[in-house]
Formats: sequence, C-alpha cells, structure tokens
Amino acid sequence: MKSLTYNDRVATYKDTEINQEFSMSITDGTVAMALSGGLDSTTFMFFICRYIIDLKLENKIKIKPVMSVEIETSHDLYPALNLVDDISLKYPNINIDDFEMCPYKADSYDEEYDIEYKGIQNKVHDTFFTNLYKNNDDLTTIIQAHTGWPPEDIVKHWGIHKDDWIFNERKYEVKRNIYIYTVQGAKIYRPMTNNNKMLVASLFKFLNIDNKYITETFSCTAPDGKVVTSTKPCQRCPHCWEKKWAFGQF
Ligand SMILES: [Zn+2]
Repeated sequence: MKSLTYNDRVATYKDTEINQEFSMSITDGTVAMALSGGLDSTTFMFFICRYIIDLKLENKIKIKPVMSVEIETSHDLYPALNLVDDISLKYPNINIDDFEMCPYKADSYDEEYDIEYKGIQNKVHDTFFTNLYKNNDDLTTIIQAHTGWPPEDIVKHWGIHKDDWIFNERKYEVKRNIYIYTVQGAKIYRPMTNNNKMLVASLFKFLNIDNKYITETFSCTAPDGKVVTSTKPCQRCPHCWEKKWAFGQF
C-alpha cells in the first residue's frame, strides 16, 4: 500500500510493498532542486510541486532548478530543461525561479574532494553550491534526489566493484545522514538517501507522472564511467541497470 501523509510541514511517503519510506520538510523561502536530467530528480521535482499544492504553499515556497552540466556532452541538460518547462505549464501558480547551471569538465579533479568525498564531485560544484547560498538570501536548502544502490546481492552483477567509491558512497545497507555539508560548508538535503530507485519508481507511479519521462530522461553514465558519448542508453553501465531494475526498461 502506498500513502502520502502530512504532519504539519513534514510529508511522509510510504510504500509497504517494498518496505520503504522517506520524509521531507521544506520551510518558507527558496529551495534549490538539483536536477540531473534523470528520473530521481525528475520525480522529486514533481514531489515538491505536489507538496506545495497539498499544503497550499504557492506564495511561500519558490523552487530554483539548478544543474551541473558537463561542458562537452550535456545530453542530460535537455531533459532537465524540458522538465522545468513542463512543470511551469502544469503548475502555473508555483513560483519557479531561473534555471541556473554549473558548467564543469568531466575530468576535473580536486584532491581534497577525493579524500573527503561527500557526493560533491569537485571544487567547481562546491563553489557553485556555496555561491547559491551567498547569492540567494532566502535560500533555505539545496535538495539532491540522492539514493542508495539496490541491495548488494543485486548490484554485484552490474559491474560495480566493492572497492569503487561509488559503491561505498551509495551502499544501500549503510545508513546515511540526510544532511551533508560540502568542504566549503554548503548544506545539502538528501531526503531519499536511505532509499533506492525502487522507491523512486513507486513514487513516480503514485504521483501519476507521465510515462514519457521514463524514455526521455537520461540515466546512462557510459560503461567505462567516463564521458557519455551517445544519447542512447548503453544498457551496460550500472546506472542503466539501476533504471531497468526499478522502472523495467533502460
Ligand atoms: Zn548506460
């Protein structure tokens, strides 16, 4: 059974069939939603809209879509831009702020982020997030639709090695804090970090989100983990498999 309940400002979504739930709370002001062009952030963007409508917060909460965009490929930018257009049309009373991008290069590397990895890829991202708070006085939080991998016995077939940072950073069995702070101190809120993509798929259905996003969004990270060179899913990388596992298709 799926349910969405509210306790004052705290929304709790629960799916007893997959035994997962998460809660989210947003205070008045601007909330930055980190988009990726993929299904997790797409679903979460619709969830925030539902939250604002249900609690009648149209005049109190503004959504600022933000996105990291790899300079040379940027395939994932277009699904994200289309999503923001769709949201603006579907919810004319919800206040959507300007879309802001953080351009970066896939090979950018900063040693301190390697050591203190917190899901922020490099100094470029950290500076972007830090400046969001500096430049938006009423910014309350930055939300990432970060999730864990499926259980270990499932992902072990997907080419994710136990020693990979991405496995350890997203290991489902490890309980993570929903708030993280970047090296520079920017606060990031990750309400779904202790769930996995099966919860995203459940929420997607619950919110009646258009199935077109399953094919139009972009999850592939390329089989070698480097730069994505095709706009078609490679059907080999862990992120392609994660999508197929939860949504039934690449
Ligand atoms: Zn792929």
